[in-house]
Amino acid sequence: MIAARAVILAASTAFSAAAETRFDISLDPRLELAGVVEALSASSAAFPSPAHPADFTLPRRGGLARIEKRFGSLRGHPAVRFHALPSFRGISYNDRRQVLLRLSMPPALEAPSDLADLGLVSAVGGEELLERWIEGLREFARDSRFMEYHRDESFRIESELSRFRKALLQGEYLAKIEEYTGLPFRGRIHFFLSRFYMHGAAVTMVRFEDDSIHVAMTAGVEEDAPPWDDLRYAVFPDEVWHESAHGILDERTDRFTLEDSVLKAFVRPPARDCQDPGHCVREHVAVGVAARLVRAEQGDLAAEKVLAEAEEGGLLHIRAVENILSEYEADRKRYPTLAAFYPRLLGADLLVSGARD
Ligand SMILES: [Zn+2]
Repeated sequence: MIAARAVILAASTAFSAAAETRFDISLDPRLELAGVVEALSASSAAFPSPAHPADFTLPRRGGLARIEKRFGSLRGHPAVRFHALPSFRGISYNDRRQVLLRLSMPPALEAPSDLADLGLVSAVGGEELLERWIEGLREFARDSRFMEYHRDESFRIESELSRFRKALLQGEYLAKIEEYTGLPFRGRIHFFLSRFYMHGAAVTMVRFEDDSIHVAMTAGVEEDAPPWDDLRYAVFPDEVWHESAHGILDERTDRFTLEDSVLKAFVRPPARDCQDPGHCVREHVAVGVAARLVRAEQGDLAAEKVLAEAEEGGLLHIRAVENILSEYEADRKRYPTLAAFYPRLLGADLLVSGARD
């Protein structure tokens, strides 16, 4: 989890929040702006058509034609030329997204002061390239009056956005995890949607001084989404549960004193989801809870997918954690909250149970 305070603060005022829910859902203008420029660079007559970066996709349903009509005359724009540079082409849209979501809204695109500390700068080719890229996007947003186009496009997909919102509310995902843990989720989940992003959720999380949590998730287009959908509007409960579990439990997990033998068992060479012992333990707890909820709601096959992915990411004890959680579920009188179950969940028994698997 990487803090992105400035961005989330900006986002929470920029988006219309449905007051009765804890979800904010909007087409994200930063991802859409960078997507439009990338799309123009690839079809530019001035350059050989470059391969689009990894994780990038093009909008459907006439979206490309509308881009051509509105922005086609801007192919010579410095921002478009920049996107066609070989040194920039190799940077995946996912890495670009990590930076974009930390900027303020276009056309200002102000960068937070800690952007350089986040380890993202090298991912996008160094500080100089980063600055030129953002400056180009700023100019393009101003020169093209991008935000006017963005308002039109947001209006166009309003019915898809409300379908997404409805599916989220009907799932009652936050109510379910609060009931499961016996603990409240104090915060909001922001969904930043983009038609140029080829993937489901990926996340940043911020904890505010009043202890509320803001989770930012990106939703894009799935390869197998129906052709009439601009967005992948199907909700992905495993990710919602995983991230809200972090929001509910991380602080409690950090406070819990682990036995030495358990802590040592969590110390492994850094893996994707397991950078240091503290991180490994937090991930085990959050994914374990998400897997249990997925198993209850979507069945064994879906739960197996969550577990297999976690193992791939380096969570060695995830199956043991998930097993032990069934004891918690069976005796909620004794364990009114998941925190009350921590001595068992993260005790040495975990390793015994893990060894049995
Ligand atoms: Zn996580």
